[in-house]
Amino acid sequence: MSKESTELLEALLAGDAPRFHPNTGQNLAEDGALKLSPSARAGLEAPRYCQLCGRRMVVQVRPDGWDARCSRHGTIDSMYLDNR
Ligand SMILES: [Zn+2]
Repeated sequence: MSKESTELLEALLAGDAPRFHPNTGQNLAEDGALKLSPSARAGLEAPRYCQLCGRRMVVQVRPDGWDARCSRHGTIDSMYLDNR
């Protein structure tokens, strides 16, 4: 196992309010309201940006879901969301 951060995953599982829009990278602290599409809200859409720092993430879409990696905050995977 790598020592990659799990900060992003922890924030997601804790239900923390995103600081940056996961699909647009919009800075929510500056621009206000979060407007997620219904599918994004349901966790069906792969996020493109880290919700903690707004970095563009490396996204892989698989037949059974997706994973997305922020170089600073670690990887999130749709399977974590499905299993809740
Ligand atoms: Zn990040």
